Amino acid sequence: MDSQLQVYNTLTRQKEVFKPINPPLVGMYVCGPTVYSDVHLGNCRTFVSFDLIYRYLQHLGYKVRYVRNITDAGHLEGDRDEGDDKFTKKAKLEQLEPMEIVQKYTLGFHEVMRLFNTLPPNIEPSATGHITEQIEMVKQIIDSGLAYEVNGTVYFDVEKYSKDQNYTILTNRELDDLLANTRELGGQDDKKGRLDFALWIKAKPEHLMRWPSPWGWGFPGWHIECSAMSKKYLGDTFDIHGGGLDLAATHHTNEIAQSQACNHAEPAKYWMHTNMLTVNGTRMSKSAGNGFLPFELFTGDHPLLSRAYSPMTVRFFMLQAHYRSTLDFSNEALEASDKGFKRLMSAVHLLDKLPVAGSSDYNVQDLSKRCYAAMNDDFNSPVLIAELFEAVRVINSVYDGKSKLNLESLDQLRQLMKAMVFDVLGLQSEEKSEGDLTAIMDLLIRLRNEAKAKQDYATSDQIRMSLQELGIQLKDSKSGTTWDKI
Ligand SMILES: [Zn+2]
Repeated sequence: MDSQLQVYNTLTRQKEVFKPINPPLVGMYVCGPTVYSDVHLGNCRTFVSFDLIYRYLQHLGYKVRYVRNITDAGHLEGDRDEGDDKFTKKAKLEQLEPMEIVQKYTLGFHEVMRLFNTLPPNIEPSATGHITEQIEMVKQIIDSGLAYEVNGTVYFDVEKYSKDQNYTILTNRELDDLLANTRELGGQDDKKGRLDFALWIKAKPEHLMRWPSPWGWGFPGWHIECSAMSKKYLGDTFDIHGGGLDLAATHHTNEIAQSQACNHAEPAKYWMHTNMLTVNGTRMSKSAGNGFLPFELFTGDHPLLSRAYSPMTVRFFMLQAHYRSTLDFSNEALEASDKGFKRLMSAVHLLDKLPVAGSSDYNVQDLSKRCYAAMNDDFNSPVLIAELFEAVRVINSVYDGKSKLNLESLDQLRQLMKAMVFDVLGLQSEEKSEGDLTAIMDLLIRLRNEAKAKQDYATSDQIRMSLQELGIQLKDSKSGTTWDKI
């Protein structure tokens, strides 16, 4: 498959022509959520961005195997193996079993992903479901001489690895800088080197989530799950590995080291990272009090929000920024996206009502080329959306009789708009469907009948008159009440 697609690769710090290892197959692994609390908006942005990438690759004809994991074990509070286990801590706080915490927040995560209209991944493996694979990988790393066990915990030997390999290949940071920013080892520490990280962690007696291993009862370190699961489902080397930018320096750096040590091959050809969120110009974080959850956006229930914004407005808003740029939330920006989204969808609905002329005064093929050029330039959705607004102008102008399109151009425009708006950007119409209206009308007719039965004619008349004002006519007959749009 000849591709015009250019992808920015964090590993090489440049845009490269996308050449999958085994076209038309594409293997894509994205680090999923740690399901110990409600999914935060930064994560949602990452998953909406990779949904765009997944959709566009499929649109181009690639057969993508998209793997996105669920971290349900092994993630300690600090990224460098310190602090409590997040699940055990939350389980104590909510007085639930750790796996109840996992189930609760996995369901919540899936619901948010559904509202954002993201396509589910092909495989969604969990860390707890792949303990055997992780233990096997740790054994192989020990066998290769790059890991050691101390008192039931297994550490990756970063110093030894660095003799032959570039540990900081992904971020290009100096190893000395890294060392300078890492605390000195004390008498309590079992690990040999300051940068060494845990592959397997000995479980304390109070630890609820634990498994038997060659090194005693314990649980996997956070980084090993992604190396083990990506290897299992996508092979030693696959095409795209993605995640939030905050994962690059530690989690992904360690993943590369683990996979190299075990498989003697680079795990992924292209590393892709999404940038962070800001609110009114400052970094979004819970501690700063400016981090809102998806449902707070959907209900408007947050001090910083002036009203509610629908999931599609928020999705559209996210896609109006390039995935590698920071995305700044503000009421003004969300308000503008809401207007823009509605304007775009109204034009899409007008497409089937446009008059056909004998000739065209607009070149749809040029527009199509510009749309694909935008997406081929590292999935540049904001530029694509700007092109679609050019189409909105044309659609409105044709509808008003100020421009004209012949049948061929009109068909091309319909196909292009529907492909870009629905298939690639993954937007959905939020207008209530006829099915929803039927259910609402059944309810109103029942309430009106109940009012009449109680001889509350003021209420029953009120319902009939109000519906009439909305363009709906009720008709009473012996067999019951029916309705019609006027
Ligand atoms: Zn990961």
